[in-house]
Amino acid sequence: MIDGVIKYNFDFRPTSPLHVSQYKDIEDVRSRLYALKLIGISNGIGYGNISQKNSDGTFIITGTQTGDLSSLNGEHYAYIQEYNDRKFYLKSSGMIKPSSESLTHATIYNLHEEIKAVIHIHSKYIWNFMLKNSYLKTEDVDYGTKEMIDEVNRIYEDTDPLSDAKFVMSGHEDGVISFGRTLKEAEITLYRVISRIYM
Ligand SMILES: [Zn+2]
Repeated sequence: MIDGVIKYNFDFRPTSPLHVSQYKDIEDVRSRLYALKLIGISNGIGYGNISQKNSDGTFIITGTQTGDLSSLNGEHYAYIQEYNDRKFYLKSSGMIKPSSESLTHATIYNLHEEIKAVIHIHSKYIWNFMLKNSYLKTEDVDYGTKEMIDEVNRIYEDTDPLSDAKFVMSGHEDGVISFGRTLKEAEITLYRVISRIYM
């Protein structure tokens, strides 16, 4: 299955664009990841997504099929008002539907209340490196599925998520996730993995 196919039950309410204050921190990180091609387009399919959790439990995430765009504005971000990963349910608003990997982000937020940011990138080099080395990995399950939700919960069953805030998605080619208490922390966690590839 390719990126961009939304598989969950979602309730999407079209509204006006999001305000810059809602996504400026994400956009900042995204511009760097886009420059590194960790977010981008491959074979006509956009990849990569970032989210940030608000203090009220809602979160903002990049919209579906926005990976090809070098910069995003309020039209390209989605506001996730409610989610229930166990019921496979998500309610969003904004001008665009949320990333098809939004429920994976929701599951990560549910792991620990201090988690406030999630980054999902694609990179063949990082993916291969993490698979060959001893990183946490979800088994051969596809993104955006109930199995992926179960897998994320499984790998953190006996591990404090914030002590090892990254994993590789075996069944989702090139897919890697990092997260943290802040976007900066999630971004640095990703760069630490990259730095090991060159050491
Ligand atoms: Zn992906």
